[in-house]
Amino acid sequence: MSGFLKLLARNRLALAGGIVMALVVLLALVTPLLPLADPDVTNTGARFQPPFSEGALLGTDHLGRDLLSRLLWGTRLSLAVGFAAAIAAATIGAAVGIVSGFYGGRTDNLIMRGVDMLMAFPYILLALAIVAALGPGLLNALIAVAAVNVPFFARNIRGITVGLAHREFVDAARLSGLSNARIILSEILPNVIPVIVIAMSTTIGWMILETAGLSFLGLGSQPPQADLGSMLGEARSALITNPHTSVVPGLMILIIVMSINLLGDGVRDALDPRLKSGALSRPMAATRVDRRGPVPESAGQGLLEVQELQTQFHVKDRVYRAVGGVSLHVEPGECLGLIGESGSGKSVTALSVMGLVASPPGVITGGAVRYEGEDLIGAPYGRLRDMRGRNVAYIFQDPLATLHPLYRVGDQLIEAIRAHRPIGRREGQARALELLKSVRIPNPEKRLTDYPHELSGGMRQRIGIAMALANEPDVIIADEPTTALDVTVQAQILALLDDLRRERGLAIVFITHDFGVVAQLCDRVAVMYAGRIVEEGPTQAILERPLHPYTARLMACVPELGTGKRRLEAIPGLPPVVDRLPKGCAFAERCTRAQPDCRKGEIDLYRAGPRAVRCIHPEAPLQEAAE
Ligand code: ADP
Ligand code: MG
Repeated sequence: MSGFLKLLARNRLALAGGIVMALVVLLALVTPLLPLADPDVTNTGARFQPPFSEGALLGTDHLGRDLLSRLLWGTRLSLAVGFAAAIAAATIGAAVGIVSGFYGGRTDNLIMRGVDMLMAFPYILLALAIVAALGPGLLNALIAVAAVNVPFFARNIRGITVGLAHREFVDAARLSGLSNARIILSEILPNVIPVIVIAMSTTIGWMILETAGLSFLGLGSQPPQADLGSMLGEARSALITNPHTSVVPGLMILIIVMSINLLGDGVRDALDPRLKSGALSRPMAATRVDRRGPVPESAGQGLLEVQELQTQFHVKDRVYRAVGGVSLHVEPGECLGLIGESGSGKSVTALSVMGLVASPPGVITGGAVRYEGEDLIGAPYGRLRDMRGRNVAYIFQDPLATLHPLYRVGDQLIEAIRAHRPIGRREGQARALELLKSVRIPNPEKRLTDYPHELSGGMRQRIGIAMALANEPDVIIADEPTTALDVTVQAQILALLDDLRRERGLAIVFITHDFGVVAQLCDRVAVMYAGRIVEEGPTQAILERPLHPYTARLMACVPELGTGKRRLEAIPGLPPVVDRLPKGCAFAERCTRAQPDCRKGEIDLYRAGPRAVRCIHPEAPLQEAAE
């Protein structure tokens, strides 16, 4: 709640609107206590007194009634009617919308067609018709204004509810045996309340105007009772001769509606959870770069070379060092495994390569990423976009989340190709078919016209791989591509990637948390912990003789079949939070070999031959292992 108010206050216009609105409401509340003249007592002797005359600060109207008094009482009435109408419309509309969206089917059809019928009439005509049927009067005007706004709320809320009604948490509530009424109250309602509040805050000014409009036409408040609309209506005949009688209520309407609308916009922005972290900004097209230190010299290794890469997340005054100086390289035709527990910074490293980390909050603060020697960090967005997918392609963990649910997979493949090469429809079809064949999808002609939801998980991941291959990239970064799949499908996908790499000379960076997968596919492995590489070397050598205690513990977590019973070791404790990294070795807290000097200061990455380890008390001497 305080966060909401803070966000609201940061929006200057909304704050100004809020203050003005609060003043008006306060004035309306204290009106009965003020020493005002009776608003309804006529005094024909003192008609059309100008403003600032004796005893009438804002002058008098055509019947000699005190305008200030009528203005304040009128504002009070207009506000009350406007708010009441808004609350009535929102309550009834939301109830109708929720019931319709939640039950769906025939209920939905029946209710929504009724709502459509109401919406088919111009709303002012509808309001006039309702008042005409009920008879003029303020209460009837209120009913009319509320009634014509119900469909607006009903439609809005129904749309949101339909989206919620089949979400997993609603299914979970159903499974736990809750009744429909309970589900609506405890699961649906809390999720639509922000939408209701937003819709209300943006329409309430409108409703005040509509009420004023009806009163202006003489269908709302009846003489001698004043509201802002009727004051305007009565002043109409003296518009030219005594303009102040219309200007006074007119200005008040302007002030109220303006301030409510500004406040309403602010409320909408502040309530939208997506705006909370980035506060009214959307992610930039490429990750923000703020390199302080010098750019490392190229060591000339590999097709893709990551050097001392540092990526941080700046959230308010916290700094999360997700990647703290990572160096990697891959050669053409090579598969590099990047392994580590969840949260160790693997994905952020991978996304930093093509500037895909969301900014805000992500910032690349140091290092270099070289592709054939060219430094890509800080490269113009156009250059990055040109390379994304064509030189370096990605495969992500969950293909259902990365494929567009509304397009056929064939069209999505063609779109991926078209992003880099203008090709015709026929040619695109042929190429898409070829791609599906290359990832060994059975029956590829038929699959082209399928939607993502019609495919199995393994098939979808094959489509994901086909999309990554679409522009014949040289490097593929696969971020846990098999984590969501079962083991048999996982083995097929790994075999496929392995073949593709050999056939096409692809360089693959394969991210995983599973040593079993690494053993099957990777030539070299880099082990990551708390944003740093802690060990690196040829897969076979590391599997035979891990040096870093963390690597050894990770391997002990992998169950093996057919080797008899062995205790599976969990690593005690949790990885450190990356905004408060300890001094010295980040793993020391959880390490059985830790000595006091591990916590003293920065531990270097020691290299010998093909192997490297960031540890001063490794499982075996580095030199020995390197031989
Ligand atoms: P993983 O190795 O599982 O792929 P990630 O690279 O996704 O891990 O995350 C690395 C670290 O970065 C984590 O500690 C995570 O908390 C942090 N992180 C990721 N995204 C954000 C974000 N948007 N804001 C703050 N911290 C983040
Ligand atoms: Mg990840």
